[in-house]
Amino acid sequence: MSKSIILIRYGEIHLKGNNRGFFLKLLSRNIRSATQDFGCRLEINGTRYEIVDFDEAVGDKIIDRLKIISGITSVSKAIKIPSDFDVLKKTALDHAPKNKQATFRITVNRADKTYKYNSNYIASELGAYILSKRAKLRVDLHNADTDIKVDIREDGSAYVFCEVIGCAGGMPVGSAGRGLLLLSGGLDSPVAGYLMTKRGMSLDAIHFHSYPYTGEEAQKKVEELATTLGGFCGGVNLTSVSVTHIQEAIHKFCLPDYMICLLRRYMIRIAEKVAIERGCQCLITGESLGQVASQTVESITMTNAVADKLPILRPLIATNKSEIIDIARQIGTYDISIRPYEDCCTVFLPKHPIIKPRLDNVLREEAKLGDILGDGK
Ligand code: ATP
Ligand code: MG
Repeated sequence: MSKSIILIRYGEIHLKGNNRGFFLKLLSRNIRSATQDFGCRLEINGTRYEIVDFDEAVGDKIIDRLKIISGITSVSKAIKIPSDFDVLKKTALDHAPKNKQATFRITVNRADKTYKYNSNYIASELGAYILSKRAKLRVDLHNADTDIKVDIREDGSAYVFCEVIGCAGGMPVGSAGRGLLLLSGGLDSPVAGYLMTKRGMSLDAIHFHSYPYTGEEAQKKVEELATTLGGFCGGVNLTSVSVTHIQEAIHKFCLPDYMICLLRRYMIRIAEKVAIERGCQCLITGESLGQVASQTVESITMTNAVADKLPILRPLIATNKSEIIDIARQIGTYDISIRPYEDCCTVFLPKHPIIKPRLDNVLREEAKLGDILGDGK
């Protein structure tokens, strides 16, 4: 009769007029794909989404997943019951605080306007019933220790719950185009990709390696990061591209300080081509202003200068490392990213990378490399 469910609410989507169905379809697809490994099901009950048929031992884990699905504003562990008044009373009592001295209140939402009692009456009856069974509890309407919420639905069911857990918000993935994420094995780029999914963007990813200078471990790590990100956006297609010949040529012909700046420009050129082939509408990087030499505004100007068809989005540009780490932990990429590995950029790493590159110098160094990509660039 009564069953444990996880109640899901969405916010910004309510603002969408005629497109609402499109957004909701995407949201349900994304919830199913992010929770399928728990063996649970998603049921849709009017404007309420419910996770059902799950093992209660993994309820918190499912909630952790739901918290970061874009489009969901909050979730609650709830009990779903028939809206029969006696059942309501008993279930409300089950939710009463265990501490004898505690305070509580009852909050009623009555979507079923044909229900035989109005919200005020239901609240006062349930409150009185609880007090009759737990004489030491007190009612406090303004600052209760426990707020027992009762939501009576039109279909003859009701939800009872106490806690409302805030989630990522945002828009469902798939509603805001597709971007190509430049995915290194570090902490930042997976977080950058995640933040774009939060605003509804689907992701492809490109990783640059310098095999044999970089090893299989680095490749495996990036594949795991892509898989983890895929959980938020229905899968991430990862392409790995070797830049060994580019790094070797820069190392051989150019001033050492320009290694990273020049390499980044080649990465962007390659990424832009791949993005267009894949139907992606932008590039995404994990750069954060001033974090390293290649992330000064002057360095960013040098990389922007080679992307002439697509914008480069940098969702982390104004975030601190500690904020990035917090998100990485939340989304499960932290433990993967901190594994030691050789990034292609650390191969031939200069002692003093250029901090404020100038375009004339960069073009002079690039001219030494000729047509390294074999297509006039
Ligand atoms: P991350 O933590 O993402 O590695 P970072 O702080 O190490 O970033 P950089 O190494 O300067 O910063 O890289 C800046 C951005 O360039 C990365 O966030 C990523 O988007 C991109 N990038 C760097 N190296 C690679 C790579 N090997 N493959 C793909 N993208 C890369
Ligand atoms: Mg890096």
